[in-house]
Amino acid sequence: MLSLQDVSVSYDGVPAVRDASLSLDDGHVLAVLGPSGSGKSTLLRAIAGLEPVAAGRLSWDDADLAGVPTHKRGFALMFQDGQLFGHLTVARNVGYALRLRRTPNAAGRVRELLALVGLEGYEDRLPATLSGGERQRVALARSLAVQPRLLLLDEPLSALDAGLRERLAADLRDILREAGTTALMVTHDQEEAFAVADRLAVMRGGRIVQQGDIAEVWRAPADPETALFLGYAHVLEGDHAHVLTRAAGRPDAAGSVAVRRSALVVADAGPLTGKVVSARVTPVQIRLRVDVDGAGELDAVARLDARPGPGDRVSMVVDASRIAVVPEVH
Ligand code: ADP
Ligand code: MG
Repeated sequence: MLSLQDVSVSYDGVPAVRDASLSLDDGHVLAVLGPSGSGKSTLLRAIAGLEPVAAGRLSWDDADLAGVPTHKRGFALMFQDGQLFGHLTVARNVGYALRLRRTPNAAGRVRELLALVGLEGYEDRLPATLSGGERQRVALARSLAVQPRLLLLDEPLSALDAGLRERLAADLRDILREAGTTALMVTHDQEEAFAVADRLAVMRGGRIVQQGDIAEVWRAPADPETALFLGYAHVLEGDHAHVLTRAAGRPDAAGSVAVRRSALVVADAGPLTGKVVSARVTPVQIRLRVDVDGAGELDAVARLDARPGPGDRVSMVVDASRIAVVPEVH
């Protein structure tokens, strides 16, 4: 189990990671999600031992990792651009660490790994003859060759085009599960995080602002900013509640908006989920009817200065008494 307690990392005295606490149980895949510059790569490099920790404690199964050099941590790293050895065949790339360790039957293990990543028969190809997606699969097979106790992935799919990224994300999830690999992936891409991981930590400004089971974090973002980052299209704030909706589309010319998927109401009583029954956007107001998990419909009205776009915030007036009747967080 990986554990971080109040870890801070600085560059020339300027903190890039602040008081980060995290834990990752064996066999799980954690995505650390945050915008560019939020400190994700720095956090990953500190875990790998490539960046010194200014404060706090990093440990594996309660053993302090301070003073343990990178190559003795038993972790493997994989980056955006797999960094294959261009002059070596696929088989030699994948088997590189096995040969260094003089592992018996390295060729058999390489075949197994190539099968795992769906590249049977690619042994003799050179990296230059592979597509971007194939290269990342080779890099993944190479990272998994030595059976690391933790795989660290830094934006592993970001260099790929959208369609391929989606397919490879699903494959990556399956491959990690099949191999039983404990992994920590940092990414700025919400869809990628949701496709690959089962745990989520949200990072902003060097801090981890929320972490937990991925579905829980999705259902109950800690604050409006986190909700926006997770892909909720509108965050509507009122005095007593935030109504968050995930829009399927933008408002159309007639002023109605295709908000039909779900809504999340963060009230004083705690977060509640519900369905948007209807939504109307006019030049002066937005009005939502939200069916809050069987507790009845909530009517929320906001006055607008301008028509909101995805991610815009508008103040809302909501009937908070209707929210309060629901006692539990679902
Ligand atoms: P992310 O991976 O989330 O995009 P980084 O961890 O790369 O973020 O960067 C976090 C902050 O640390 C940024 O402000 C960045 O400019 C700074 N930073 C990253 N690497 C260095 C470095 N080697 N020297 C100085 N500052 C750095
Ligand atoms: Mg980065």
